[in-house]
Amino acid sequence: MSPGKPTILVTGGAGYIGSHTVLALKQAGFDVIILDNLVYGHRDLVEKVLQVELVVGDTGDRALLDDLFKTHDVAAVIHFSAYAYVGESVSDPAKYYRNNVLGTLTLLEAMLAASVKNFVFSSTCATYGVPEVVPIPEDHPQNPINPYGATKLMVERILSDFDVAYGFKSVRFRYFNAAGADPNGRLGEDHNPETHLIPLVLQTALGKRESISVFGTDYPTPDGTCIRDYIHVSDLADAHVLGLEYLLKGGDSEVFNLGNGNGFSVKEVIETAKQVTGKDIKVVECDRRPGDPPALIGSGDKAKKILGWHPQYSSLKEIITHAWQWHQSRHQ
Ligand code: UDP
Repeated sequence: MSPGKPTILVTGGAGYIGSHTVLALKQAGFDVIILDNLVYGHRDLVEKVLQVELVVGDTGDRALLDDLFKTHDVAAVIHFSAYAYVGESVSDPAKYYRNNVLGTLTLLEAMLAASVKNFVFSSTCATYGVPEVVPIPEDHPQNPINPYGATKLMVERILSDFDVAYGFKSVRFRYFNAAGADPNGRLGEDHNPETHLIPLVLQTALGKRESISVFGTDYPTPDGTCIRDYIHVSDLADAHVLGLEYLLKGGDSEVFNLGNGNGFSVKEVIETAKQVTGKDIKVVECDRRPGDPPALIGSGDKAKKILGWHPQYSSLKEIITHAWQWHQSRHQ
């Protein structure tokens, strides 16, 4: 352990947001251990880029967790690992409740047994459901419209109850649309299967796909397509370091939206991607995708005020530029 800086367990650290956060933690001087079952995470990334200890396993494996907490002096856990495909959560909810809720509960119980009581949790704007107002404030009612959002909300409730009963402190981050890539090109977004708009648009620009489908053009928005708040993954990573430092300094449990407060429509994203890449991107207009709210926008003002968060890359052009650099480098 580095002098003065504790060891942090990052679950899902071999995934997209987790890996960017591990880099930010290392830069801030923390020692990091990753727990990842590698179902969606990338071993080569941990070995070649992150260069931290990797424990391969599930958050639902209590014996493994007990051993991990016995053999490492962990001060806090940042918990990313979860299944996160909205459509799959509708068709196979059991998979989502087992992993996202039961797996997390097992992790939390193992933490309690080891007296580790600081927890940073990846929640989501999907816990709000269809918002009544945008930008969505943190105290907006939470009525998720898909099992994925429901699993995240259940964990949020477990965390509130654990605080009351056991003095278990958590920072819950509700992300809007994570996008972009490490500005220095070390990491990027690599989902398999890929379902997210920006990587799919860029794969189209690279010629790996013939066209990009626009899911719905009849929404009650200015151009009829859905509006989302895209937030740079490195800004999300910085927020996690700040949330962790806040807890380690004795901060009380809190919930923060992480968004830019600016919404962009699907058509605006595609237009910006055309400008950034200089490529013509073929667009096919399709029916709506089930479970998509028309507009999701959230401000990061509370995180700025309480955590001192300063997002550095809030322009959509910059976010897409970094993603494009990374996609191009992988294509070579
Ligand atoms: N979207 C789209 N075509 C695609 C993928 C996504 O039109 O191939 C739309 C989707 O309906 C949503 C927005 O782009 O309105 C962002 O979707 P994404 O899956 O990236 O993130 P989500 O908002 O579901 O977390």
